[in-house]
Amino acid sequence: MKARRTTLKALAAGMALGLALAATQTQAQDKGTVGVAMPTKTSTRWVSDGNSMVAALAAKGYKTDLQYADDDIPNQLAQIENMVTKGAKVLVIASIDGTTLSNVLQKAADKGVKVIAYDRLINGSKNVDYYATFDNFQVGVLQANSIVDKLGLKAGKGPFNIELFGGSPDDNNAFFFYDGAMSVLKPYIDSGKLVVRSKQMGMDKVGTLRWDGAVAQARMDNLLSAYYGKDKLNAVLSPYDGLSIGILSSLKGVGYCTAQQPCPVVTGQDAEVPSVKSMLRNEQSSTVFKDTRELAKVAANMVDALMTGKKPEINDTKTYNNKVKVVPSYLLKPVSVDLSNYKKVLIDSGYIKEDQLK
Ligand code: BGC
Repeated sequence: MKARRTTLKALAAGMALGLALAATQTQAQDKGTVGVAMPTKTSTRWVSDGNSMVAALAAKGYKTDLQYADDDIPNQLAQIENMVTKGAKVLVIASIDGTTLSNVLQKAADKGVKVIAYDRLINGSKNVDYYATFDNFQVGVLQANSIVDKLGLKAGKGPFNIELFGGSPDDNNAFFFYDGAMSVLKPYIDSGKLVVRSKQMGMDKVGTLRWDGAVAQARMDNLLSAYYGKDKLNAVLSPYDGLSIGILSSLKGVGYCTAQQPCPVVTGQDAEVPSVKSMLRNEQSSTVFKDTRELAKVAANMVDALMTGKKPEINDTKTYNNKVKVVPSYLLKPVSVDLSNYKKVLIDSGYIKEDQLK
């Protein structure tokens, strides 16, 4: 009897679940599909972004066509074109090269498809409706402040040797990160408290195409052999964790990161697991956490507003000029993370699980 009751209960629960699922599916079908174009899976942040987007849109009743483009521009173009052909109502795009999408976005606009630039601005097109991102200038400020603090520059210490790395020159963000960092570092460089022995400054000299860690590692190798024979390097401005890991490999290859010769101060961005582990080994000094779950929520809210004839929430109408128009934006706050606060910011918030760091 008891067994039968349990079976009946299970059956009822199963039916309820089935009904609920059917309801979400109908709702999802009713509300339409959103195309989500992401650049690459090689960096875990974009994987988190994609997963969070699917979850945030599903919670609002939308289906998602999520595509990753292996950092290949023609691949991303084809993916977006395909989304438009298949009838996506809104496109959410984290571009690889923000200047290459004008034609496909025109096709989308002709069909009434709205476009949200996700994290990276899409340049040179009027068909970008909104932009969801972080305060990218502030990311650079935080990276540079961590160098200032860890070297003790405010207390007058120095001079110190520093080398600068930039992000991918086809990513609009890379310039914001670099400019933000230089707004803090330049006065120390001008006063001689920070010395760039290679004299390599400016995004044209320090950029790292496609944010490739191997490219950064090779450049660090060259810098170390050309400029740091006897003299030691004290700090490296690195705009992204994947580059920081490459830079640290290079440094370790010539004897840094030992008891006699500690690692220089090395910054980063994205709070990726390998970099948090590197911080725990006292190698990478800091990272900048950008909560991709929050970014996905902002973008999903924008989608929903556009689909229901409301105005998406924005908090910036000045900063992001894409050479054709100023794109109305919502900027989230980045957070600087080092050993002193990683538990609170990354673990307690559930962004990283403690056992991922083992
Ligand atoms: C993002 C960063 C990321 C970088 C490399 C930038 O556009 O804003 O968070 O580190 O791309 O993927």
